[in-house]
Amino acid sequence: CGTLYLCATPIGNLEDITLRVIRVLGEVDLVAAEDTRHTRKLFSHYDIHTALTSYHEHNRQAKGRYIIEQLLLGKNVALVSDAGTPGISDPGAELVQGALERGIPVTSLPGPSALLTALTVSGLPLDRFVFEGFLPAKNKERRRRLAELARETRTVVLYESPHRLPKTLGELVDAMGDRRACAARELTKLHEDVRRGTLAQLREQFTGEPPRGEFVLVIEGRPAEGDGTNTVDGNLTPEEYVRLL
Ligand code: SAM
Repeated sequence: CGTLYLCATPIGNLEDITLRVIRVLGEVDLVAAEDTRHTRKLFSHYDIHTALTSYHEHNRQAKGRYIIEQLLLGKNVALVSDAGTPGISDPGAELVQGALERGIPVTSLPGPSALLTALTVSGLPLDRFVFEGFLPAKNKERRRRLAELARETRTVVLYESPHRLPKTLGELVDAMGDRRACAARELTKLHEDVRRGTLAQLREQFTGEPPRGEFVLVIEGRPAEGDGTNTVDGNLTPEEYVRLL
């Protein structure tokens, strides 16, 4: 049978694509794309003419079966999302699972992801981090997740849509107290804008009109107890905390 290639594509700047991804996208029999119109722009930039089919949230079951059939017939298929790495807050994981269950080889061609791009530019500790993707939209589940994150000692990475960003920053301040954080907007694009400060400072900066563009939030973890370098629960210094004990 054929191979399923997971191909990372640019998150903004079209130059952020590997030579291997360009070659494989040109060589495979079929490219499954989250939005074929979007991927066509990338194809025309790199003069790629491979057949495209859509694979997205709403057709993933039926189209997933079709892609697996093609792979079993010996065709090589590449999967791309609109931006970044397929499967990371994007469709892909289910297709990979389906392919693996049938013994189809799966290989990943690494490249851009907003997750690592934001982390590396944040200035926050990178030795241990946790990726939360998008917070749940429903209030109850969201509050539960925020409470969990408040206790997290690793650096936290969240994806957020611009219209929710001001509200989310407010909720994060309420749940976590004030912490160092970074809002990374439009990464790799012409208007890339990385703001570093505390959650409360970022909340101030983004009150009012919802900002434009795509955002990643990176938030410092809660200092481990006994660390003594920073605040203890987001509000108290270690000295204040000890006095309360
Ligand atoms: N698969 C993608 C990846 O590997 O990064 C993520 C797809 S997810 C549907 C889209 C979210 O990623 C956006 O809402 C935003 O949080 C983040 N994102 C994607 N491109 C970005 C960029 N250029 N700058 C900042 N955030 C970005």
